[in-house]
Amino acid sequence: MSQDDNRHDSSRRTFLATAAIVTSAAVLGLRPRRAKAAALPLLSQSNSPLAKSMGYEPDAQNVNRAKYRTYARGEHCAVCQFFQGASGEKAGYAGCQLYPGFRVAAQGWCASFTARS
Ligand code: SF4
Repeated sequence: MSQDDNRHDSSRRTFLATAAIVTSAAVLGLRPRRAKAAALPLLSQSNSPLAKSMGYEPDAQNVNRAKYRTYARGEHCAVCQFFQGASGEKAGYAGCQLYPGFRVAAQGWCASFTARS
């Protein structure tokens, strides 16, 4: 075996070891976080006094418009700057920076709504 062959084998081993570490980190580090987020309870007025005081509704169409006059048609969590899911998401749930430990509905709304810029 020549020196070139040895160098080539060494580079290949280094590449494979790095790929294995990166893959392991991805599997061990990212999957549990996603699993934890998916396991968070859904926010409701009955399980969060803050949500109750902010008039959170999982469906923005049910917002009490007489009480929350700032609500404007089209406002919902998926277009709020505090929503941690994809912007403009039509359905589903994701975290909200203002309600740690819960997931909010993409179509939900609360009085802290702030449009994404
Ligand atoms: S702060 Fe925004 S994302 Fe969070 S619950 Fe209220 S409207 Fe939804």
